[in-house]
Amino acid sequence: MKLGDEPDYPAILAEIQAQVRPYVGQGAVADYIPELAKAPLDRWGLAVATLDGRVYTAGEAEEAFSIQSISKLFSLTLALQLVGPTLWERVGREPSGDPFNSLVQLEHEAGVPRNPFINAGALVVTDVIRSHVPDAAQAVLDLIHRAAGDEAARFDGAVAQSERETGHRNRAVAHFMKSFGRLRNDVDEVLDAYFHHCSISMSCADLARASLFLANRGRSPYTDEQLLPAEWTKYVNALMLTCGTYDAAGDFAFRVGLPTKSGVGGGLLAVMPQGFAACAWSPGLDRVGNSIAGAKALELLAQATGLSIF
Ligand code: GLN
Repeated sequence: MKLGDEPDYPAILAEIQAQVRPYVGQGAVADYIPELAKAPLDRWGLAVATLDGRVYTAGEAEEAFSIQSISKLFSLTLALQLVGPTLWERVGREPSGDPFNSLVQLEHEAGVPRNPFINAGALVVTDVIRSHVPDAAQAVLDLIHRAAGDEAARFDGAVAQSERETGHRNRAVAHFMKSFGRLRNDVDEVLDAYFHHCSISMSCADLARASLFLANRGRSPYTDEQLLPAEWTKYVNALMLTCGTYDAAGDFAFRVGLPTKSGVGGGLLAVMPQGFAACAWSPGLDRVGNSIAGAKALELLAQATGLSIF
């Protein structure tokens, strides 16, 4: 590929589809949220949205899945819209090197979460949003609709209810932070909003579209709305690279070389600034909670296009 040429995405995606097959079905679906255990292990999809707004797809890229922690991209964007960089007074910007739901660092660090993508940090972000809007989860969903230029994303009430009933660890994290005075709103309200924005269901194609502003200096190519200033968009991408895949962030930077955010529904959202937003999905997860076939697909995409931030 010559410099400046657009990669041949249809050919590249067809090749990835062939190569990723052996990885589909590997790993285990998340079952600590019982409703997520119903996810089909044999599914796989990939969508790449380019700056002109076109979306290239392979596999089951139109099938909706539970975006889980990928919603934290949008809650972070919304909190930055609401309070700007004062957000960093409430949450850090360092990788944790611990599992996404860990309580360990919170004790030593007086309840201040390491970054906005571990569960503790995302709960603080949701708390910040709740201080400004009555329905924080709905505000996150509205932002996704505005970014994508369509209304395809929706809450999955069964998933939200399932996590509400079983999310003891998130409750522990939230109450622990409250004991340090780090949450301003009612703990149950914050948890409820968090469980709801994690329950948002959408397809690879939708998610690639909704995230394209992150590759386009903060502007959605679908609606022309500047969702974040370019400089703050860089903040979000930098945090995706260093913290977006939890304790596998170093390995993702090495293998894929793109800012990436994962969710335990099996989705992975990667951003190539000034290039594309790509969403890969397959419910089989590795030990850390990242999709095995999804990670392989992104690795192959970066290789085939020759695009990475490095
Ligand atoms: N809702 C999930 C939880 O809080 C999100 C985790 C994830 O996707 N990594 O445990």
